[in-house]
Amino acid sequence: MSEQPYRGRIAPSPTGYLHLGHAKTFWTAFQRCQNSNGFLTYRDEDIDFHRCKDIFSQAAIDDLKQLGLNWDEGPVKQSQRSAIYIEVLEKLVSLGLAYPCESSRKDIKEHPDTILSAEGESIFPKALRPDPSSPTFPLNLKTNWRFVVPDHRSVSFSDGRQGIKSYNCQADFGDFLLWRKEGMPSYELAVVVDDIDMRITEVVRGADLLVSTARQLLMYEALKASPPAFYHEDLVTDESGERLAKRKDSLALRTLFAEGHSSDSIRRMWTAHP
Ligand code: GLU
Repeated sequence: MSEQPYRGRIAPSPTGYLHLGHAKTFWTAFQRCQNSNGFLTYRDEDIDFHRCKDIFSQAAIDDLKQLGLNWDEGPVKQSQRSAIYIEVLEKLVSLGLAYPCESSRKDIKEHPDTILSAEGESIFPKALRPDPSSPTFPLNLKTNWRFVVPDHRSVSFSDGRQGIKSYNCQADFGDFLLWRKEGMPSYELAVVVDDIDMRITEVVRGADLLVSTARQLLMYEALKASPPAFYHEDLVTDESGERLAKRKDSLALRTLFAEGHSSDSIRRMWTAHP
């Protein structure tokens, strides 16, 4: 059987200016696609209308082009793809794998059954699931929806960069959001729907999303779709070993370019401090 042609994507969220950490991940995604003679899609992950701004969408494109990246397709904007996310949400509901959830963050945090994951995230307690005898749930898009995470199982995958990774359901993560009551899909839903629809063969993303990948693998399984390969790039850290955050404006790509750094000198920054 012949191998599928490589299809990759770069998928920034326009919630701020891109910094060195993003640049490293997107550069790796670009390089891995080039090395495989692949097809690269630029996907603007602008679903969160509270946090995403058009100026950041445009800045990300300009900054990545200045860094030397190019792509074959896009930008494809997630904000214009609601219909397909709703269709898949409906499918998960019909499979009995999604339920509406009125619990607030506070309800979850304060519930006596709530435990914290190793990463400090409150695991959604199963006691807050709706009554299992409810026959069906009408699709109300003005409420939150969660994915039913199974008990007693782990999700393992072999990552191209980080090796074998394994996460325990209900200990590393619990029932996660698929849809937000404000009328938008969650990151997990949008990203899985798009990666399937765009026939992505390898997802390159930052290592901060490893647990998300475990969540997403459960969705691939539920939707009977074969998952892509994964490559989680190491995060860039500062001198004190702290992760770079977007607020570190001094390491924003635009600031570095404005200071006169070339694309080459920026790339040396993450190779010098891997
Ligand atoms: N949009 C995400 C980010 O900017 C990346 C999502 C992904 O690669 O799956 O961090």
